[in-house]
Amino acid sequence: MHDRDAVYIGGEWVAPTTAARTPVENPATGQVIGQVPEVGPADVDRAVAAARAAFGGWSATGRAERAAALAGLRDGLAARRDELAALITAEMGAPARVASGLQVGLPLQVLDGYLSLLAGPDPEPERIGGSLVLREPAGVVGAITPWNYPVHQAVAKIAPALAAGCTVVLKPSELAPLSAFLLTEVIDRAGLPPGVFNLVPGTGPVAGEALAGHPDLDLISFTGSTRGGRRVAAVAAGTVKRVRLELGGKSANVLLPDADHAVAVKVGVANCYLNTGQTCTALSRMLVHTSRYEEAVERAAEYAAGLPVGDPTDPKTRLGPLVSADQRDRVLSLLRAGVAEGARVATGGPDVAGLPEPGHYVAPTVLADVSPDGTLAQEEVFGPVLSVIPYRDEDDAVRIANHTRYGLTGGVWSADPDRALALARRLRTGQVDINGAGFNPLAPFGGYRQSGIGREHGPYGLAEYQEVKSIQLPDGR
Ligand code: NAD
Repeated sequence: MHDRDAVYIGGEWVAPTTAARTPVENPATGQVIGQVPEVGPADVDRAVAAARAAFGGWSATGRAERAAALAGLRDGLAARRDELAALITAEMGAPARVASGLQVGLPLQVLDGYLSLLAGPDPEPERIGGSLVLREPAGVVGAITPWNYPVHQAVAKIAPALAAGCTVVLKPSELAPLSAFLLTEVIDRAGLPPGVFNLVPGTGPVAGEALAGHPDLDLISFTGSTRGGRRVAAVAAGTVKRVRLELGGKSANVLLPDADHAVAVKVGVANCYLNTGQTCTALSRMLVHTSRYEEAVERAAEYAAGLPVGDPTDPKTRLGPLVSADQRDRVLSLLRAGVAEGARVATGGPDVAGLPEPGHYVAPTVLADVSPDGTLAQEEVFGPVLSVIPYRDEDDAVRIANHTRYGLTGGVWSADPDRALALARRLRTGQVDINGAGFNPLAPFGGYRQSGIGREHGPYGLAEYQEVKSIQLPDGR
Protein backbone atom coordinates (compact mmCIF):
# COMPACT_ATOMS: atom_id res chain seq x y z
CA MET A 1 0.00 0.00 0.00
CA HIS A 2 1.10 3.54 -0.79
CA ASP A 3 -0.20 5.30 2.31
CA ARG A 4 0.93 8.85 2.98
CA ASP A 5 0.05 10.69 6.14
CA ALA A 6 2.08 13.89 5.89
CA VAL A 7 2.17 16.92 3.63
CA TYR A 8 5.28 18.86 2.59
CA ILE A 9 5.47 22.41 3.93
CA GLY A 10 8.52 24.57 4.63
CA GLY A 11 10.98 21.82 3.71
CA GLU A 12 9.48 19.25 6.08
CA TRP A 13 6.96 16.43 6.05
CA VAL A 14 4.35 17.61 8.56
CA ALA A 15 0.96 16.38 9.78
CA PRO A 16 -2.01 18.08 8.11
CA THR A 17 -4.64 19.80 10.26
CA THR A 18 -7.39 17.55 8.90
CA ALA A 19 -8.10 13.88 9.56
CA ALA A 20 -9.64 13.35 6.10
CA ARG A 21 -7.89 11.00 3.67
CA THR A 22 -8.40 10.44 -0.08
CA PRO A 23 -8.29 6.78 -1.17
CA VAL A 24 -6.46 6.13 -4.45
CA GLU A 25 -7.85 3.41 -6.71
CA ASN A 26 -5.99 1.38 -9.31
CA PRO A 27 -8.31 1.75 -12.32
CA ALA A 28 -7.22 -1.58 -13.81
CA THR A 29 -8.15 -3.61 -10.72
CA GLY A 30 -10.63 -1.42 -8.87
CA GLN A 31 -8.56 -1.91 -5.72
CA VAL A 32 -7.54 0.83 -3.34
CA ILE A 33 -3.74 1.04 -3.46
CA GLY A 34 -3.16 3.82 -0.99
CA GLN A 35 -4.42 7.00 0.58
CA VAL A 36 -3.20 10.56 0.96
CA PRO A 37 -4.15 13.47 3.20
CA GLU A 38 -6.95 15.77 2.13
CA VAL A 39 -5.85 19.16 3.40
CA GLY A 40 -8.03 22.05 4.51
CA PRO A 41 -7.66 25.84 4.13
CA ALA A 42 -5.44 26.06 7.25
CA ASP A 43 -2.84 23.80 5.59
CA VAL A 44 -2.99 25.88 2.41
CA ASP A 45 -2.42 28.99 4.56
CA ARG A 46 0.63 27.37 6.13
CA ALA A 47 2.03 26.34 2.76
CA VAL A 48 1.53 29.79 1.24
CA ALA A 49 3.15 31.39 4.30
CA ALA A 50 6.17 29.07 3.94
CA ALA A 51 6.45 29.88 0.24
CA ARG A 52 6.16 33.59 0.99
CA ALA A 53 8.87 33.37 3.65
CA ALA A 54 11.17 31.60 1.17
CA PHE A 55 10.50 34.02 -1.68
CA GLY A 56 12.95 36.74 -0.62
CA GLY A 57 15.92 34.37 -0.65
CA TRP A 58 15.00 32.33 -3.72
CA SER A 59 14.10 35.35 -5.84
CA ALA A 60 17.57 36.77 -5.15
CA THR A 61 19.39 33.70 -6.52
CA GLY A 62 21.08 33.73 -9.91
CA ARG A 63 20.90 31.36 -12.83
CA ALA A 64 23.57 29.00 -11.53
CA GLU A 65 21.74 28.20 -8.30
CA ARG A 66 18.39 27.78 -10.03
CA ALA A 67 19.94 25.59 -12.72
CA ALA A 68 21.54 23.41 -10.03
CA ALA A 69 18.11 22.89 -8.45
CA LEU A 70 16.51 21.95 -11.77
CA ALA A 71 19.39 19.62 -12.61
CA GLY A 72 18.95 17.92 -9.22
CA LEU A 73 15.26 17.50 -9.97
CA ARG A 74 15.98 16.15 -13.46
CA ASP A 75 18.61 13.69 -12.25
CA GLY A 76 16.44 12.58 -9.32
CA LEU A 77 13.49 11.86 -11.60
CA ALA A 78 15.67 10.05 -14.11
CA ALA A 79 17.14 7.87 -11.36
CA ARG A 80 13.65 6.83 -10.22
CA ARG A 81 12.14 6.58 -13.71
CA ASP A 82 10.96 2.96 -13.50
CA GLU A 83 9.49 3.34 -10.03
CA LEU A 84 7.73 6.55 -11.02
CA ALA A 85 6.35 5.06 -14.25
CA ALA A 86 4.98 2.02 -12.38
CA LEU A 87 3.36 4.28 -9.79
CA ILE A 88 1.67 6.39 -12.50
CA THR A 89 0.39 3.22 -14.18
CA ALA A 90 -0.98 2.02 -10.83
CA GLU A 91 -2.70 5.29 -9.94
CA MET A 92 -4.20 6.30 -13.30
CA GLY A 93 -3.82 3.35 -15.68
CA ALA A 94 -1.39 4.65 -18.31
CA PRO A 95 -0.04 1.71 -20.34
CA ALA A 96 3.53 0.90 -19.28
CA ARG A 97 5.16 2.12 -22.50
CA VAL A 98 3.32 5.46 -22.24
CA ALA A 99 4.14 5.73 -18.55
CA SER A 100 7.87 5.42 -19.06
CA GLY A 101 8.13 7.03 -22.49
CA LEU A 102 5.84 10.02 -22.04
CA GLN A 103 4.63 10.30 -18.47
CA VAL A 104 8.23 10.40 -17.21
CA GLY A 105 9.97 11.18 -20.50
CA LEU A 106 8.15 14.47 -21.14
CA PRO A 107 9.00 16.14 -17.82
CA LEU A 108 12.65 15.18 -18.34
CA GLN A 109 12.56 16.88 -21.75
CA VAL A 110 10.83 19.94 -20.28
CA LEU A 111 13.47 20.19 -17.52
CA ASP A 112 16.24 19.90 -20.11
CA GLY A 113 14.54 22.70 -22.04
CA TYR A 114 14.60 25.06 -19.06
CA LEU A 115 18.15 24.01 -18.19
CA SER A 116 19.23 25.06 -21.68
CA LEU A 117 17.62 28.49 -21.08
CA LEU A 118 19.47 28.86 -17.79
CA ALA A 119 22.86 28.03 -19.29
CA GLY A 120 25.43 30.81 -19.24
CA PRO A 121 25.67 33.93 -17.12
CA ASP A 122 22.72 36.08 -16.06
CA PRO A 123 21.73 38.21 -19.09
CA GLU A 124 22.11 41.99 -19.22
CA PRO A 125 18.75 43.75 -18.68
CA GLU A 126 16.98 44.99 -21.79
CA ARG A 127 17.21 48.72 -22.64
CA ILE A 128 14.32 50.54 -24.33
CA GLY A 129 15.35 54.12 -24.97
CA GLY A 130 16.17 55.67 -21.61
CA SER A 131 14.61 52.82 -19.64
CA LEU A 132 16.02 49.70 -18.12
CA VAL A 133 13.53 46.82 -18.48
CA LEU A 134 13.86 44.11 -15.85
CA ARG A 135 12.29 40.69 -15.72
CA GLU A 136 11.59 39.81 -12.09
CA PRO A 137 10.11 36.70 -10.45
CA ALA A 138 6.29 36.92 -10.38
CA GLY A 139 6.20 35.89 -6.71
CA VAL A 140 4.48 33.02 -4.87
CA VAL A 141 2.86 30.60 -7.32
CA GLY A 142 -0.02 28.18 -6.81
CA ALA A 143 -0.10 25.20 -9.18
CA ILE A 144 -3.20 23.03 -9.62
CA THR A 145 -2.73 19.97 -11.82
CA PRO A 146 -4.80 17.14 -13.38
CA TRP A 147 -4.44 13.35 -13.27
CA ASN A 148 -3.83 12.53 -16.92
CA TYR A 149 -0.10 13.38 -17.07
CA PRO A 150 0.32 13.96 -13.35
CA VAL A 151 4.09 14.48 -13.16
CA HIS A 152 4.46 16.22 -16.51
CA GLN A 153 1.78 18.79 -15.72
CA ALA A 154 3.33 19.49 -12.31
CA VAL A 155 6.86 19.85 -13.72
CA ALA A 156 5.53 22.09 -16.53
CA LYS A 157 4.71 24.59 -13.77
CA ILE A 158 7.35 23.90 -11.11
CA ALA A 159 10.33 24.07 -13.50
CA PRO A 160 9.65 27.52 -15.01
CA ALA A 161 8.49 28.90 -11.66
CA LEU A 162 11.75 27.86 -9.96
CA ALA A 163 13.79 28.95 -12.99
CA ALA A 164 12.19 32.40 -12.81
CA GLY A 165 12.87 32.71 -9.06
CA CYS A 166 9.33 32.02 -7.82
CA THR A 167 8.31 29.78 -4.93
CA VAL A 168 5.58 27.18 -5.37
CA VAL A 169 2.63 25.49 -3.67
CA LEU A 170 1.42 22.44 -5.63
CA LYS A 171 -2.04 20.89 -5.36
CA PRO A 172 -2.11 17.69 -7.41
CA SER A 173 -5.25 15.90 -8.61
CA GLU A 174 -7.03 13.86 -5.95
CA LEU A 175 -7.44 11.05 -8.52
CA ALA A 176 -3.69 10.50 -9.04
CA PRO A 177 -1.78 12.13 -6.18
CA LEU A 178 0.76 9.38 -5.40
CA SER A 179 3.27 10.38 -8.07
CA ALA A 180 3.28 13.94 -6.69
CA PHE A 181 4.59 12.53 -3.40
CA LEU A 182 7.44 10.78 -5.19
CA LEU A 183 8.14 13.98 -7.11
CA THR A 184 8.23 15.84 -3.79
CA GLU A 185 10.73 13.34 -2.38
CA VAL A 186 12.94 14.04 -5.37
CA ILE A 187 12.59 17.81 -4.90
CA ASP A 188 13.35 17.42 -1.18
CA ARG A 189 16.62 15.67 -2.05
CA ALA A 190 17.50 18.24 -4.69
CA GLY A 191 18.47 20.56 -1.84
CA LEU A 192 16.13 23.50 -2.36
CA PRO A 193 15.90 25.95 0.54
CA PRO A 194 12.92 25.20 2.84
CA GLY A 195 9.60 26.63 1.61
CA VAL A 196 10.65 27.05 -2.02
CA PHE A 197 8.42 24.08 -2.87
CA ASN A 198 5.37 22.86 -0.93
CA LEU A 199 2.82 20.08 -1.51
CA VAL A 200 -0.82 20.29 -0.39
CA PRO A 201 -2.89 17.33 -1.61
CA GLY A 202 -6.66 17.79 -1.44
CA THR A 203 -9.86 18.27 -3.35
CA GLY A 204 -10.54 20.95 -5.95
CA PRO A 205 -13.41 22.69 -4.17
CA VAL A 206 -11.54 22.87 -0.81
CA ALA A 207 -7.76 22.95 -1.29
CA GLY A 208 -7.90 24.15 -4.91
CA GLU A 209 -10.21 27.05 -4.19
CA ALA A 210 -8.33 27.97 -1.00
CA LEU A 211 -5.22 28.28 -3.16
CA ALA A 212 -6.87 30.08 -6.09
CA GLY A 213 -8.47 32.65 -3.78
CA HIS A 214 -5.49 33.07 -1.46
CA PRO A 215 -4.69 36.76 -0.92
CA ASP A 216 -0.96 36.14 -0.49
CA LEU A 217 -0.46 34.24 -3.73
CA ASP A 218 0.71 36.21 -6.77
CA LEU A 219 -0.08 33.77 -9.55
CA ILE A 220 -2.24 30.69 -10.01
CA SER A 221 -1.44 28.26 -12.80
CA PHE A 222 -4.13 25.68 -13.49
CA THR A 223 -4.23 22.70 -15.82
CA GLY A 224 -7.46 20.77 -16.06
CA SER A 225 -10.98 20.92 -17.44
CA THR A 226 -12.44 24.09 -18.89
CA ARG A 227 -15.13 23.90 -16.20
CA GLY A 228 -12.47 23.80 -13.45
CA GLY A 229 -10.48 26.61 -15.08
CA ARG A 230 -13.52 28.84 -15.26
CA ARG A 231 -14.10 28.34 -11.52
CA VAL A 232 -10.43 28.97 -10.66
CA ALA A 233 -10.45 32.19 -12.67
CA ALA A 234 -13.63 33.34 -10.92
CA VAL A 235 -12.25 32.56 -7.45
CA ALA A 236 -8.90 34.20 -8.28
CA ALA A 237 -10.56 37.36 -9.60
CA GLY A 238 -11.31 38.60 -6.08
CA THR A 239 -7.59 39.10 -5.43
CA VAL A 240 -6.58 40.10 -9.00
CA LYS A 241 -3.74 37.62 -9.17
CA ARG A 242 -2.19 36.44 -12.42
CA VAL A 243 -4.18 33.49 -13.80
CA ARG A 244 -2.76 30.97 -16.28
CA LEU A 245 -5.07 28.26 -17.62
CA GLU A 246 -4.28 25.14 -19.66
CA LEU A 247 -7.66 23.59 -20.43
CA GLY A 248 -9.44 21.11 -22.66
CA GLY A 249 -9.47 20.58 -26.39
CA LYS A 250 -11.39 19.12 -29.31
CA SER A 251 -8.63 19.19 -31.85
CA ALA A 252 -8.95 18.56 -35.56
CA ASN A 253 -6.60 16.53 -37.75
CA VAL A 254 -7.07 17.60 -41.37
CA LEU A 255 -6.06 15.01 -43.96
CA LEU A 256 -5.72 16.77 -47.29
CA PRO A 257 -6.57 14.56 -50.30
CA ASP A 258 -2.94 14.34 -51.43
CA ALA A 259 -1.72 13.01 -48.04
CA ASP A 260 -0.37 9.49 -47.68
CA HIS A 261 -3.51 8.14 -46.03
CA ALA A 262 -1.95 4.79 -45.09
CA VAL A 263 0.39 6.66 -42.73
CA ALA A 264 -1.81 9.63 -41.82
CA VAL A 265 -4.82 7.58 -40.70
CA LYS A 266 -2.72 5.22 -38.59
CA VAL A 267 -0.70 7.99 -36.92
CA GLY A 268 -3.91 9.99 -36.45
CA VAL A 269 -5.68 7.12 -34.66
CA ALA A 270 -2.62 6.48 -32.49
CA ASN A 271 -2.46 10.17 -31.58
CA CYS A 272 -6.15 10.26 -30.64
CA TYR A 273 -5.77 7.17 -28.44
CA LEU A 274 -2.54 8.22 -26.74
CA ASN A 275 -2.78 7.62 -22.98
CA THR A 276 -6.07 5.82 -23.72
CA GLY A 277 -7.47 9.00 -25.22
CA GLN A 278 -6.91 10.95 -22.01
CA THR A 279 -4.70 13.62 -23.54
CA CYS A 280 -5.66 17.28 -23.84
CA THR A 281 -4.03 17.53 -27.28
CA ALA A 282 -5.77 14.38 -28.64
CA LEU A 283 -6.62 14.89 -32.31
CA SER A 284 -10.10 13.55 -31.66
CA ARG A 285 -11.72 14.82 -34.90
CA MET A 286 -10.27 13.44 -38.13
CA LEU A 287 -11.34 15.57 -41.10
CA VAL A 288 -11.18 13.72 -44.40
CA HIS A 289 -12.00 14.89 -47.94
CA THR A 290 -15.24 13.36 -49.27
CA SER A 291 -13.31 11.67 -52.11
CA ARG A 292 -11.32 9.57 -49.63
CA TYR A 293 -13.77 9.46 -46.73
CA GLU A 294 -15.00 5.83 -46.74
CA GLU A 295 -11.48 4.55 -47.35
CA ALA A 296 -10.23 6.49 -44.29
CA VAL A 297 -13.08 5.29 -42.06
CA GLU A 298 -12.31 1.70 -42.99
CA ARG A 299 -8.59 2.08 -42.43
CA ALA A 300 -9.12 3.79 -39.06
CA ALA A 301 -11.57 1.12 -37.90
CA GLU A 302 -9.32 -1.72 -38.96
CA TYR A 303 -6.27 -0.26 -37.21
CA ALA A 304 -8.22 0.65 -34.05
CA ALA A 305 -9.82 -2.78 -33.77
CA GLY A 306 -6.38 -4.43 -33.77
CA LEU A 307 -4.94 -2.44 -30.85
CA PRO A 308 -4.35 -4.52 -27.72
CA VAL A 309 -6.59 -3.42 -24.82
CA GLY A 310 -6.00 -4.62 -21.29
CA ASP A 311 -3.60 -4.83 -18.37
CA PRO A 312 -1.62 -1.57 -18.45
CA THR A 313 1.42 -3.22 -16.87
CA ASP A 314 1.78 -5.48 -19.93
CA PRO A 315 4.32 -3.84 -22.28
CA LYS A 316 2.26 -4.92 -25.31
CA THR A 317 -0.87 -3.08 -24.15
CA ARG A 318 -1.78 0.01 -26.18
CA LEU A 319 -5.01 0.95 -24.38
CA GLY A 320 -5.46 0.63 -20.64
CA PRO A 321 -8.46 1.42 -18.45
CA LEU A 322 -9.86 4.91 -18.08
CA VAL A 323 -8.94 6.66 -14.85
CA SER A 324 -12.19 6.00 -12.98
CA ALA A 325 -15.64 4.43 -13.21
CA ASP A 326 -17.10 7.95 -13.45
CA GLN A 327 -14.86 8.80 -16.39
CA ARG A 328 -15.78 5.53 -18.17
CA ASP A 329 -19.49 6.17 -17.60
CA ARG A 330 -19.11 9.72 -18.91
CA VAL A 331 -17.40 8.45 -22.08
CA LEU A 332 -20.09 5.80 -22.61
CA SER A 333 -22.89 8.32 -22.17
CA LEU A 334 -21.25 10.69 -24.69
CA LEU A 335 -20.94 7.75 -27.11
CA ARG A 336 -24.63 6.91 -26.67
CA ALA A 337 -25.58 10.55 -27.25
CA GLY A 338 -23.51 10.60 -30.45
CA VAL A 339 -25.05 7.39 -31.75
CA ALA A 340 -28.54 8.70 -30.95
CA GLU A 341 -27.69 11.80 -33.02
CA GLY A 342 -26.85 9.62 -36.02
CA ALA A 343 -23.14 8.78 -35.72
CA ARG A 344 -22.25 5.44 -37.33
CA VAL A 345 -20.11 3.03 -35.27
CA ALA A 346 -17.28 1.81 -37.50
CA THR A 347 -15.65 -0.10 -34.65
CA GLY A 348 -16.05 -0.23 -30.86
CA GLY A 349 -18.93 1.76 -29.47
CA PRO A 350 -20.76 1.91 -26.14
CA ASP A 351 -21.95 -1.72 -25.99
CA VAL A 352 -18.90 -3.90 -26.67
CA ALA A 353 -18.93 -7.22 -24.81
CA GLY A 354 -15.86 -9.04 -23.56
CA LEU A 355 -13.77 -6.10 -22.38
CA PRO A 356 -11.30 -6.95 -19.59
CA GLU A 357 -12.77 -7.10 -16.09
CA PRO A 358 -12.51 -5.63 -13.55
CA GLY A 359 -11.29 -2.19 -14.63
CA HIS A 360 -12.82 0.80 -16.35
CA TYR A 361 -12.33 -0.18 -19.99
CA VAL A 362 -13.84 1.34 -23.12
CA ALA A 363 -13.33 -0.30 -26.51
CA PRO A 364 -11.29 1.67 -29.06
CA THR A 365 -13.99 3.41 -31.03
CA VAL A 366 -14.18 4.98 -34.47
CA LEU A 367 -17.35 6.85 -35.40
CA ALA A 368 -18.27 7.99 -38.88
CA ASP A 369 -20.85 10.53 -40.08
CA VAL A 370 -20.42 12.67 -36.96
CA SER A 371 -22.10 16.02 -37.52
CA PRO A 372 -19.73 18.98 -36.99
CA ASP A 373 -22.37 20.43 -34.65
CA GLY A 374 -23.01 17.16 -32.79
CA THR A 375 -22.05 16.18 -29.25
CA LEU A 376 -19.04 14.10 -30.33
CA ALA A 377 -17.65 16.92 -32.46
CA GLN A 378 -18.14 19.56 -29.76
CA GLU A 379 -17.50 17.87 -26.39
CA GLU A 380 -14.11 16.73 -25.17
CA VAL A 381 -14.61 12.96 -24.67
CA PHE A 382 -11.31 12.08 -22.95
CA GLY A 383 -11.41 8.43 -23.98
CA PRO A 384 -10.42 6.28 -26.99
CA VAL A 385 -13.01 7.77 -29.33
CA LEU A 386 -12.23 9.11 -32.81
CA SER A 387 -14.85 10.97 -34.84
CA VAL A 388 -14.24 10.97 -38.59
CA ILE A 389 -15.89 13.93 -40.32
CA PRO A 390 -16.07 14.57 -44.08
CA TYR A 391 -15.28 17.93 -45.72
CA ARG A 392 -15.82 19.22 -49.28
CA ASP A 393 -12.87 21.56 -49.82
CA GLU A 394 -10.18 23.37 -47.82
CA ASP A 395 -12.47 26.22 -46.80
CA ASP A 396 -14.96 23.68 -45.50
CA ALA A 397 -12.18 21.85 -43.60
CA VAL A 398 -11.02 25.09 -41.96
CA ARG A 399 -14.58 26.04 -41.07
CA ILE A 400 -15.23 22.65 -39.42
CA ALA A 401 -11.83 22.57 -37.69
CA ASN A 402 -12.39 26.01 -36.13
CA HIS A 403 -16.01 25.30 -35.23
CA THR A 404 -15.63 24.44 -31.53
CA ARG A 405 -15.21 26.54 -28.41
CA TYR A 406 -11.71 25.10 -28.00
CA GLY A 407 -8.43 25.94 -29.73
CA LEU A 408 -5.66 23.82 -28.27
CA THR A 409 -4.01 22.04 -31.16
CA GLY A 410 -4.44 20.64 -34.64
CA GLY A 411 -2.88 18.46 -37.30
CA VAL A 412 -2.48 18.81 -41.05
CA TRP A 413 -1.35 16.10 -43.48
CA SER A 414 -0.35 16.74 -47.08
CA ALA A 415 2.27 15.64 -49.62
CA ASP A 416 2.88 19.35 -50.26
CA PRO A 417 4.58 21.13 -47.32
CA ASP A 418 3.55 24.61 -48.52
CA ARG A 419 -0.07 23.60 -48.80
CA ALA A 420 0.03 22.05 -45.30
CA LEU A 421 1.64 25.18 -43.84
CA ALA A 422 -0.93 27.45 -45.51
CA LEU A 423 -3.72 25.42 -43.95
CA ALA A 424 -1.96 25.27 -40.54
CA ARG A 425 -1.92 29.10 -40.49
CA ARG A 426 -5.70 29.15 -40.81
CA LEU A 427 -6.35 26.98 -37.74
CA ARG A 428 -7.28 29.00 -34.63
CA THR A 429 -5.23 26.88 -32.24
CA GLY A 430 -2.13 27.27 -30.07
CA GLN A 431 -0.16 24.66 -32.00
CA VAL A 432 -0.39 22.60 -35.17
CA ASP A 433 1.59 19.46 -36.09
CA ILE A 434 2.31 18.93 -39.78
CA ASN A 435 2.54 15.33 -41.00
CA GLY A 436 2.82 14.00 -37.46
CA ALA A 437 5.79 16.18 -36.39
CA GLY A 438 6.59 15.69 -32.71
CA PHE A 439 6.48 17.66 -29.48
CA ASN A 440 9.08 20.42 -29.09
CA PRO A 441 9.78 21.07 -25.39
CA LEU A 442 11.05 24.61 -26.10
CA ALA A 443 8.12 25.73 -28.26
CA PRO A 444 5.20 27.60 -26.63
CA PHE A 445 2.28 25.35 -25.69
CA GLY A 446 -1.21 26.55 -24.86
CA GLY A 447 -4.66 27.28 -26.12
CA TYR A 448 -6.76 29.80 -28.01
CA ARG A 449 -10.31 30.52 -26.86
CA GLN A 450 -11.64 28.20 -24.12
CA SER A 451 -8.54 25.99 -24.27
CA GLY A 452 -6.84 28.45 -21.99
CA ILE A 453 -4.86 31.57 -21.25
CA GLY A 454 -1.07 31.62 -21.37
CA ARG A 455 1.71 29.41 -22.66
CA GLU A 456 3.93 26.75 -21.13
CA HIS A 457 7.46 25.51 -22.01
CA GLY A 458 10.59 27.22 -23.24
CA PRO A 459 11.12 30.99 -23.17
CA TYR A 460 7.37 31.73 -23.37
CA GLY A 461 6.75 29.42 -20.41
CA LEU A 462 9.46 31.17 -18.39
CA ALA A 463 7.99 34.60 -19.17
CA GLU A 464 4.67 33.51 -17.62
CA TYR A 465 6.39 33.46 -14.22
CA GLN A 466 8.00 36.86 -14.59
CA GLU A 467 6.87 40.41 -13.95
CA VAL A 468 8.30 43.17 -16.12
CA LYS A 469 9.58 46.37 -14.55
CA SER A 470 10.68 49.56 -16.35
CA ILE A 471 13.13 51.82 -14.60
CA GLN A 472 13.44 55.24 -16.21
CA LEU A 473 17.03 56.40 -15.84
CA PRO A 474 17.87 60.07 -15.29
CA ASP A 475 19.06 61.68 -18.56
CA GLY A 476 18.55 58.34 -20.30
CA ARG A 477 21.81 56.99 -18.85
P1 NAD B 1 -10.33 18.83 -13.42
O1 NAD B 1 -10.64 20.22 -13.84
O2 NAD B 1 -11.42 17.99 -12.90
O3 NAD B 1 -9.22 18.85 -12.27
C1 NAD B 1 -7.94 19.45 -12.46
C2 NAD B 1 -7.43 19.93 -11.14
O4 NAD B 1 -8.26 21.00 -10.72
C3 NAD B 1 -7.45 18.91 -10.02
O5 NAD B 1 -6.33 19.09 -9.21
C4 NAD B 1 -8.72 19.26 -9.27
O6 NAD B 1 -8.68 18.90 -7.91
C5 NAD B 1 -8.72 20.76 -9.41
N1 NAD B 1 -10.03 21.39 -9.27
C6 NAD B 1 -11.24 20.89 -9.62
N2 NAD B 1 -12.20 21.77 -9.29
C7 NAD B 1 -11.59 22.84 -8.74
C8 NAD B 1 -12.06 24.07 -8.18
N3 NAD B 1 -13.36 24.36 -8.09
N4 NAD B 1 -11.15 24.95 -7.72
C9 NAD B 1 -9.82 24.67 -7.77
N5 NAD B 1 -9.33 23.52 -8.25
C10 NAD B 1 -10.20 22.61 -8.74
O7 NAD B 1 -9.58 18.15 -14.64
P2 NAD B 1 -9.06 16.63 -14.73
O8 NAD B 1 -10.25 15.76 -14.96
O9 NAD B 1 -8.15 16.34 -13.59
O10 NAD B 1 -8.15 16.68 -16.02
C11 NAD B 1 -8.64 16.48 -17.30
C12 NAD B 1 -8.81 17.80 -18.01
O11 NAD B 1 -7.56 18.49 -18.03
C13 NAD B 1 -9.20 17.65 -19.46
O12 NAD B 1 -10.20 18.59 -19.77
C14 NAD B 1 -7.92 17.97 -20.22
O13 NAD B 1 -8.12 18.43 -21.51
C15 NAD B 1 -7.30 18.98 -19.34
N6 NAD B 1 -5.87 19.06 -19.58
C16 NAD B 1 -5.36 20.14 -20.24
C17 NAD B 1 -4.00 20.21 -20.51
C18 NAD B 1 -3.40 21.38 -21.23
O14 NAD B 1 -2.21 21.58 -21.12
N7 NAD B 1 -4.16 22.20 -21.94
C19 NAD B 1 -3.17 19.18 -20.12
C20 NAD B 1 -3.71 18.09 -19.46
C21 NAD B 1 -5.07 18.05 -19.20
